[in-house]
Amino acid sequence: MLEIRNKDEYKDSHGKANVKHLIVAVLALQLFILIIRIISGLILKNSVLLLEGFHVFIDLSITSAVLITLRVIEGNYAKKFSYGLYKLDDLVSFMISIIVAFSAFDIAINSMAPENYSSIYSAWIQLSTLIPLAIAGILKINAGRLMGLGSLVEDGRHTYADVYEGLGVGVGLLLFSVLHQALFYYISIGIAVIAILITAYQIGKGSIVSLLDLPKDPSLSERVKDGILKDSGVEALKDLRLRWAGPVVFGEAIITVKPSLTIIEAHEIADRLERSIYEKFGEIRNISIHIEPSVRGTRKLLIPMDGNIISKKVSRARYFLIYNINDYSLLGNIENNVSSNFGKNFMEICKRMEITDVVCRDIGENTKAMLKGLGIRIWLSKSDNLEETLRNFKDNALELIN
Ligand SMILES: [Zn+2]
Repeated sequence: MLEIRNKDEYKDSHGKANVKHLIVAVLALQLFILIIRIISGLILKNSVLLLEGFHVFIDLSITSAVLITLRVIEGNYAKKFSYGLYKLDDLVSFMISIIVAFSAFDIAINSMAPENYSSIYSAWIQLSTLIPLAIAGILKINAGRLMGLGSLVEDGRHTYADVYEGLGVGVGLLLFSVLHQALFYYISIGIAVIAILITAYQIGKGSIVSLLDLPKDPSLSERVKDGILKDSGVEALKDLRLRWAGPVVFGEAIITVKPSLTIIEAHEIADRLERSIYEKFGEIRNISIHIEPSVRGTRKLLIPMDGNIISKKVSRARYFLIYNINDYSLLGNIENNVSSNFGKNFMEICKRMEITDVVCRDIGENTKAMLKGLGIRIWLSKSDNLEETLRNFKDNALELIN
């Protein structure tokens, strides 16, 4: 069974207007800094300001490229764009990074000799552009988080790092104008050039990784994996592949569900998963979820009990109830009759009974780690009522805590 659905079908407009304003503000701030630095660099004949202006130009181009690609994705043309076309974005980024590196060297080598009189204006202009730069960085990070866009958050962090770099350059210029030592002028140029080279390296590295189909952000795979396993309808995640192309990600996942599900029920689980993935991860353009019936057989849920309520302790509960998750029939009722080595005994029961899921009201770090090691999912129930908890488990209303 194969489920393909594009993001467009799950579009929601919440917070979209806000994000738009943030992005317009970011671009305006960057453009403002760019103009101020280039114009004052030309008037004051200061290569440092020109280099710093050039740097903002590169950063502005990167931010715009990310936003334009996203704009295309959101638009009506999106369906015509294939995975391969997004890869063009990486090829262009790669070429840009090389051009940027050469340009930085070129400007540095041909840098104007400092004026005899060293104007203090250069330093003040450089330092005063740091305030809008810091604001732009913060706004970018916020917009990226609102949109669930890792690439924009990353870009915001870069801008924020540029504030510190710009501060170094500004202090160099200040010392130059106060102490009249050309050395400080060249130190400023050095800092500005190195920052541009680092930027070129970052762009180049990211695009090569993407062109080679390597995971650009390995943590995204982990987070998507957790997101899929958080759904109690999913029995196991057999495979997850994410492929990066420019700022977007295409994914494919194979999940197994219990064999007794009807096609409609399995379809609902796939739907639910896609919706939650699109909501949480802004950069995922498309994810195909393949569903396979489980061949493992039964998925087994263990519930620790004291009397007729769910125990607050896991390994020290009085007895354990074991349910077949396919039909919620009771498979076993195991007395917990040991007086020591509770943890070890509990693990042995889990292994012997091939438990796949545990429900608890509270859990110690040790037990949690051991269950995790066995690949057992732990679900937190707020209620001590057995029937209510089973119902919540069925409805995917319990919280997954590992
Ligand atoms: Zn930068």
